[in-house]
Amino acid sequence: MTVVTRFAPSPTGRLHVGNIRTALQNWLLAKRHGGLFLLRIDDTDAARSLEDHVVAIRADLAWLGLHPDGEERQSARFDIYQTAFDRLIAAGRVYRCYETQGELDLRRKVLLSRGLPPIYDRAALALTEADHVAKAAEGQAPHWRFALDHDTPITWDDGIRGPQQFDPRQMSDPVVRRADGSWLYMLPSVIDDIAMGVTDVLRGEDHVSNTATQVQMFTALGAPVPRFAHAALLTGAEGKLSKRLGALGMADLRDAGVEPEAIVALLARLGTSDPVDPALDSDALAAAFDLSRFGRAPARFDEAELDRISAGVIHRLGFAKVADRLPEGMDEVVWLAIRPNLARVSEAADWWQVIKGPIAAPPVDDETRAFLREAATVATTLDWAGDPWSALTSTLKDTTGRKGKALFMPLRQALTGMDHGPDMKALLPLIGREEALARLNT
Ligand code: GLU
Repeated sequence: MTVVTRFAPSPTGRLHVGNIRTALQNWLLAKRHGGLFLLRIDDTDAARSLEDHVVAIRADLAWLGLHPDGEERQSARFDIYQTAFDRLIAAGRVYRCYETQGELDLRRKVLLSRGLPPIYDRAALALTEADHVAKAAEGQAPHWRFALDHDTPITWDDGIRGPQQFDPRQMSDPVVRRADGSWLYMLPSVIDDIAMGVTDVLRGEDHVSNTATQVQMFTALGAPVPRFAHAALLTGAEGKLSKRLGALGMADLRDAGVEPEAIVALLARLGTSDPVDPALDSDALAAAFDLSRFGRAPARFDEAELDRISAGVIHRLGFAKVADRLPEGMDEVVWLAIRPNLARVSEAADWWQVIKGPIAAPPVDDETRAFLREAATVATTLDWAGDPWSALTSTLKDTTGRKGKALFMPLRQALTGMDHGPDMKALLPLIGREEALARLNT
């Protein structure tokens, strides 16, 4: 059976690191098994769902290279939900309730004060058809609960958490539909997972208790229960995921110059003990993806680590992949020369400025000026088509007796205006003879 996974964001905000991780894990699991990765827009909440967010979700996934093999929208599927709902009514698996939130809160408090679990008491199940008619006559519309099957213990073998067991008697029948006819998340999600042929539901552990309920919904609808796996949540490097980090969107990361491949490389392995390797692309990560590698402890997301991985990605990026983000005129030779020094691709412009000039070199003392003059003289005699830097420095070593930092640093500073940077052997030919002579002579 083809593996089918889905990523089901609610378009009530931008995607952040945590839900991107869920999207990626679903993509990797599908690719690992040659299956399908579907996008489902959970927009049953019309008031909070925004089209702008839908557009941004698609753009963020595309930026990361997580292309869905199909897309569904819950707002276009209300007829399908109604049909399934009618079946549940006929089977007696959903029932009408009228309690107000205030009444429910009060009952909960009473139960808790007696040391009892605050489980819904199913009082509405005792209502007769005449009671419902009377409620309707009073203008009261019902909300609906799903009736859990108390006689069947809920179990599943979680792909990450291992065997799970829940006692339905210790759970409240969940509200699945509001009095105004609108849907809560729980039931439409199951109806969709069945219709979309989802074989694997992989999501955050904040959904474990939802799964306990949904397992029974699959069965009530006569469908096989998919495999479930719940990943431990992300925390920040110093404990729980900070508000800022929790809200860190893909647009923020993109604006900060983080490479999408770095996000993929890090998030694919976060929560496992496998090393994060910037050299691994998404296909390689998919080939090695294995849910059993994930632990149950919260996974630590560290922005500094993301920056390191991103630099590692840039140090391997081929020219064709970055060409359209480089300064006008910068060619492959220049890219390969400066690439090892970049933490962000945008820094290429700084090195392009160093190569093209003008640069601001630090002031020098008389002795250094004399040394640079000599360097300029030697530079006129060099074969600039070969390796002028090695020729220049080995000649100057012989003629001046300088070596190490005393030899290299004044040259680097005069030629680039900086005391660190790309390999001078690669840089000097790019600066070129005329410009190099001018810089040594000033
Ligand atoms: N829309 C739900 C959420 O974002 C989907 C959960 C699920 O994967 O079923 O939490």
